[in-house]
Amino acid sequence: MEAKRDDLTRLLQVQDIDLEILHQKKEFDELPQREQIVSARQRKEAIEEKRAKVATLKKEIERKIARVGDEDASLVKKQQGVQAALDAAKGDYRNVEARSKELAGIMKRRETLEGDMNRLTEELSKAEVVLGQAERALSDVAAQEEEAVSSFQQIGGKLKKEMADSQARRDAILAEVDPALVRAYEKAANRTGGVAIAYLQDNRCGACRSLIESGRLIELRSQAPLGTCPHCKRLLIIE
Ligand SMILES: [Zn+2]
Repeated sequence: MEAKRDDLTRLLQVQDIDLEILHQKKEFDELPQREQIVSARQRKEAIEEKRAKVATLKKEIERKIARVGDEDASLVKKQQGVQAALDAAKGDYRNVEARSKELAGIMKRRETLEGDMNRLTEELSKAEVVLGQAERALSDVAAQEEEAVSSFQQIGGKLKKEMADSQARRDAILAEVDPALVRAYEKAANRTGGVAIAYLQDNRCGACRSLIESGRLIELRSQAPLGTCPHCKRLLIIE
């Protein structure tokens, strides 16, 4: 293939830049912040789900507490009424007995309610503790997410700028090269996904290191200064 020495030197420069871009792209794709952000968001969702469950439970407990409180308040009134009736029923043995029984029933029910109230109050404070823990965990995870996002923007942004700079440098160099050579280079680069051009080193391809047998070597040398490796099809510079 016909090629000017300067163009081959330029292609080698472009190849160096392309390998640099590949490295930058890999680094960008593998930034650990991506996984950190995803993991923080998953944890946030799990905590929010738990918080919602406990909040529902807390409301339920509060409703029960209100019911117990209402019932007890109405029993207090009833108790006062029965007590007044009892006080007024002096001497009326049957009435006293009936009122006393009624009063004992009310007291018993109020005792049960007191036990319920204690248990519910304890449940409520437990739910409040869990809610507080969830709030703290959420704010921790939000801080971690924010940190990962800002670090991603900073490092990822820097890498993207470096890639754009590299791209601009390669495009500027390629603008000077014979378009047919550029096409051959791009084709080889796309196919190999890495090194596209190398030197012929004695009787070996400088890229794939394959030995090139004498018949093919003679043919290759006749293509100087630029041929194609018969094994890997990369461009070979023949000096
Ligand atoms: Zn080769």
